[in-house]
Amino acid sequence: MKIICIGRNYGRHALELGNEIPDEPVVFLKPDSALMRQRDAFFIPDFSNDIHYEAEIVIRIDRVGKNIQEKFARKYFTEISIGIDFTARDVQSKLKQKGLPWEKAKGFDSSAVVGNFINASELDLTNLNFEFKRNGETVQKGNTSDMLFPVNRLISHVSEYFTLKIGDLVYTGTPEGVGKVNPGDLLEGFIEGEKLLEVRVR
Ligand code: ZN
Repeated sequence: MKIICIGRNYGRHALELGNEIPDEPVVFLKPDSALMRQRDAFFIPDFSNDIHYEAEIVIRIDRVGKNIQEKFARKYFTEISIGIDFTARDVQSKLKQKGLPWEKAKGFDSSAVVGNFINASELDLTNLNFEFKRNGETVQKGNTSDMLFPVNRLISHVSEYFTLKIGDLVYTGTPEGVGKVNPGDLLEGFIEGEKLLEVRVR
């Protein structure tokens, strides 16, 4: 499986990092080894002093597709969750300055966390609330209506370049409010008030 991530999909998050508003989706990949397996504890890697959480709605593809039209995008997934796109911001800043690829900052082991999946058939993905808490305090609050490129558009766009396969995950971008994690932090993710994710930082 592969992990496809969308960058800068919420205007206010793009601006908080000093980035331009993109005119087409910003896409990057994480390897399958980035998926956190143990599910409950994230260990800060030695190469970074500035690991950021980015809470994102995650789509799980359950049908093979290529060149998917937006109007058919919903046929390619059933379940969604909330996940964390962990980012080594210090490493990323250095790479960005040099114009180099982001993989070391974005694709390291356990950098992709995903919560329990829920059936999305009845959900309006153009108006979905999600929330992310650090140590009980809400630090990110998003609504998918603020996406620059909505879910169906993302599926369509991504599938122009990459054949989507069963089990692939699409991280749909983070709203504003990203920040640093520290050892001992408790991270929790919610969709429409339902808790789907809990991770302890070590
Ligand atoms: Zn992200």
